[in-house]
Amino acid sequence: MSRVAVIGGGPAGMLAAGEAAGRGHRVVLFERNEKTGKKLFLTGKGRCNLTNACPVEEMFENIPRNPKFLYSALYGFTNRDIIDLIEGMGVPTKVERGQRVFPRSDHSSDVLKALNAYIAARGVELRLHSHVEALGRRDGSLMVTVNGREEAFDAVVLCTGGLSYPSTGSDGEGYGFAQGLGHSIVPCKPSLIPLVTEEEWPKQAMGLSLRNVTLKALRKGKVVFQELGEMLFTHFGVSGPLVLSASSRIADAPEGVKLLIDLKPGLDMEALDRRVLRDFEKNSRRQFSNSLGELLPAKLIPILVALSGIPGEQSVNSITRGQRQAFCRLLKALPLTVAGARDIQEAVITRGGISLREVDPSTMESRLVPGLYFAGEILDVDAYTGGFNLQIAFSTGALAGRSIRCGGFDE
Ligand SMILES: Cc1cc2nc3c(=O)[nH]c(=O)nc-3n(C[C@H](O)[C@H](O)[C@H](O)COP(=O)(O)OP(=O)(O)OC[C@H]3O[C@@H](n4cnc5c(N)ncnc54)[C@H](O)[C@@H]3O)c2cc1C
Repeated sequence: MSRVAVIGGGPAGMLAAGEAAGRGHRVVLFERNEKTGKKLFLTGKGRCNLTNACPVEEMFENIPRNPKFLYSALYGFTNRDIIDLIEGMGVPTKVERGQRVFPRSDHSSDVLKALNAYIAARGVELRLHSHVEALGRRDGSLMVTVNGREEAFDAVVLCTGGLSYPSTGSDGEGYGFAQGLGHSIVPCKPSLIPLVTEEEWPKQAMGLSLRNVTLKALRKGKVVFQELGEMLFTHFGVSGPLVLSASSRIADAPEGVKLLIDLKPGLDMEALDRRVLRDFEKNSRRQFSNSLGELLPAKLIPILVALSGIPGEQSVNSITRGQRQAFCRLLKALPLTVAGARDIQEAVITRGGISLREVDPSTMESRLVPGLYFAGEILDVDAYTGGFNLQIAFSTGALAGRSIRCGGFDE
């Protein structure tokens, strides 16, 4: 039996603690906040998209970089395993569009209750209000300093999360602990992040949410993202599920990427032209700007009119075929240019973190410091939306917790 410290009471830390305790280790879970899982509570807009019900092989397609590193973790503790764990604690789940799994109650707090019940049932000693200030090594032990007091452990699982939403307690402190022990950190960038646009007009449409539109992202003319879904205009640019997904494809260099919004993806150019022509015939005596009420949300009309180059006061019956077709092209490809991403603090997930070259993928143990393990967002892995990021946290946490050996460690 080893004395194990798990640092960070998020989803990764809770799984690591529970699995280690389930194998007979004495486990202390340190969480700086007054409760566990503050970020988990916010997930899925408070509904917690806890995993994805796709076959495990498909998970890797949703992990843009370093997916191979996660083979042992994702096959060792699968989406089925987390669903069984949560349901076993009395919280039924349901599967929604895109195979996203949520608690049937739609309350993230229920997932959190299940995880708290799971660590309690496994005998984890949970220490709240316990801010870990330092991590070091001495005489074959790992030394954890908490609220000014140092304690010795045989093994430590570092699960302090990434850099986003620091008010939840995840402010990147763990990177410093790992660096202090010789680990390298791949520079952190925001992934799944709202995008700032060069154009000012999204501000005029602020608050407008578009459903069933297609968003395309192009870098140097090459399509790097294309999906149908929902997006939102904000005071700085664009946000919403489609934009967050697009952002993770361009996280490394978002500046200059072109976005094209297809406002009418259900109609090809010909069908759209017929549709617009019908609207124009109905409104033939009106001014152009007063003829678009059935075609577009009110907030977009002045914007589209301005971008079309057709004077708003031009009479509809004088609009030429060429003008109409150019307008249809605009509806099919409303352009925006990305000026950059919002600050990392607003990201759903952090890209970068503990360099995977220094971590054994079959155990999550450090290759540099025996007895030190990593799990969750602190690692240099990130995934697209759909429940994959939480699954990574659960799976890497479970693998680390299960891999801890008995007894102390020789250096
Ligand atoms: C708004 C939002 C919505 C999201 N929605 C989803 C979703 O629906 N589905 C999905 O799959 N993913 C979602 N994510 C991503 C998901 O929340 C993260 O991937 C996941 O929480 C990472 O888990 P973790 O345990 O590694 O880190 P965290 O959840 O960040 O937990 C780290 C914990 O460590 C503690 N800690 C940090 N430093 C110390 C210290 N020095 N001492 C003690 N404790 C410390 C923190 O207080 C925190 O509780 C969302 C993220 C955000 C921000």
